Amino acid sequence: TVKTEKHGFQTEVGKLLHLVTHSLYSNKEIFLRELVSNAADAADKLRFKALSDNSLYESDGELRVRISVDKEQGTITISDNGIGMTREQAIEHLGTIAKSGTSEFFGQLTGDESKDSQLIGQFGVGFYSAFIVADRVTVLSRAAGHDATTGVQWESAGEGDFEVTDIEKSTRGTDIILHLRDDEKEFLDEWKLRSIVNKYSDHISIAVEMWKEEVPERDGPDGPEGDKIPAEPAHWEQVNAAKALWTREKSDISDEEYNEFYKHISHDFEDALTWGHNRVEGTHDYTSLLYVPKRAPWDMWNRETKHGLKLYVQRVFIMDDAEQFMPTYLRFVKGVLDSNDLPLNVSRELLQDSKVTDAMRKACTKRVLQMLEKTAKKDPEAYQAFWKEFGNALKEGPAEDASNKEKIAGLLRFASTHNDNSEQTVALADYIERMKEGQDKIYYIVADSYNAAKNSPHLEVFRKKGVEVLLMSERVDEWLISHLNEFDAKQLVSVTRGSLDLGDLDDDADKEAQKAIEEAAEGLVSRVKASLGDSVKDVRVTHRLTDSPACIVTDENDMSSQMVKLMKAAGQ
Ligand code: ADP
Ligand code: MG
Repeated sequence: TVKTEKHGFQTEVGKLLHLVTHSLYSNKEIFLRELVSNAADAADKLRFKALSDNSLYESDGELRVRISVDKEQGTITISDNGIGMTREQAIEHLGTIAKSGTSEFFGQLTGDESKDSQLIGQFGVGFYSAFIVADRVTVLSRAAGHDATTGVQWESAGEGDFEVTDIEKSTRGTDIILHLRDDEKEFLDEWKLRSIVNKYSDHISIAVEMWKEEVPERDGPDGPEGDKIPAEPAHWEQVNAAKALWTREKSDISDEEYNEFYKHISHDFEDALTWGHNRVEGTHDYTSLLYVPKRAPWDMWNRETKHGLKLYVQRVFIMDDAEQFMPTYLRFVKGVLDSNDLPLNVSRELLQDSKVTDAMRKACTKRVLQMLEKTAKKDPEAYQAFWKEFGNALKEGPAEDASNKEKIAGLLRFASTHNDNSEQTVALADYIERMKEGQDKIYYIVADSYNAAKNSPHLEVFRKKGVEVLLMSERVDEWLISHLNEFDAKQLVSVTRGSLDLGDLDDDADKEAQKAIEEAAEGLVSRVKASLGDSVKDVRVTHRLTDSPACIVTDENDMSSQMVKLMKAAGQ
């Protein structure tokens, strides 16, 4: 008996489909990237499973994806012999969105189409991109290792629901049939389709094949009198290199190919900001291809969001989101690691305490920091854009990764009294270059907001002396600064702490004058002390202020007032 059932899409899928069909028209052809990408993933998953059960190949171990058109029917079919799906899997994977934080994503949508299409790009539409060009999509699938009678047909017009039916499917894997909309029939054009397939499939590690019609016998270069070129029967023709991109020589790979591969693994719509591709031999033997995105994913600050690299062992896909190879503060990095040292049966648990993992993690971390240094040097504007997106993640670095503290510190950017705006553009090295004669410390203030920092009375003496102060007001800044005590052998000092020794910035005359004032104010100080009693530790005469009568400071070794506020807010 053929069982047909109607299912409603999960609410979010319905919304996503609406967005897909209404906002992605300027980027239509990406449906091919997504579907070919899924076919490649399905091949990867099959190879991985077959490591422990070779019979899954069912004597068909040549994994490939085939793309064909039927002009009469107006359809494009993308057919793979990968892992396939069972009925239950089809219902779940093609009817719901499994990503964490999906509802937050929908909360961020504005209704402004250009803004939203940007967001959707970052979210990744995957399979549902089929509905950009199709008004009906049919999926035929049969899971590897299952009986031919367990096939499933999934069909939907991309509106509220989809239908699943039991079918018989002798071949393993998935066929996606796109019934093109009337105004998308241009995709039936062989040349057009071929050029898109080329663009999106060259970096794919399995063969992408297109149907080539029969070519009759024809004249050779010498014309009708010369040799004939023999007829070519219709056949499946491989149209891509089918070589995993990272295994190729760097010099043979174009920027465009690197970017296409980036989009394949990240689901980003935009090009990457920068990347690094390295083959390492010696004690450890692996290849890394690491990308820094241009834009933070919409769920970057969601702690549950999966991150990490795609892990391969000897070119066999092992897992997505291997988080062991990147520290948390670099969680925005995407990429691939292909190790020749790890065993093929490596698990997340095994990765956890492996020397190989440690070594790769250290090396990959260094690489990313170097890539960022290079961008900062070569293209400050691009680096500034990077900083806007990811700066707050990088600020977690000094606390998490003491061994790279100095390097990370070099990448930080701050607002400062040198500029008249809240943009974080000042590097510690810039600050040091501008230091006054006699200044040997880097001064900063942390406050609730940029304006609170900028207008703090603590800055008065620094303004008077023309000494620059870094203005920090992000939540993470207090955390950062409690782990960053120096840079380039110069101490970082809060202007709100302790007795504020300005060192050689004060000349002898300044010091004399201060002393005189201190003596003159002794009576006032003891009266203030008496009236404030236990609420304060000490009352001192200060030379910090030029206009304000008084301010509160924190003792050298006490928690800063900003930290106290944070702790209170956290209920401590
Ligand atoms: P993603 O690829 O990011 O997981 P997609 O929307 O592209 O998201 O696909 C959703 C899911 O549908 C996949 O994770 C996979 O489980 C399943 N799927 C899609 N296409 C195929 C395919 N060709 N073969 C097997 N499973 C597939
Ligand atoms: Mg996908």
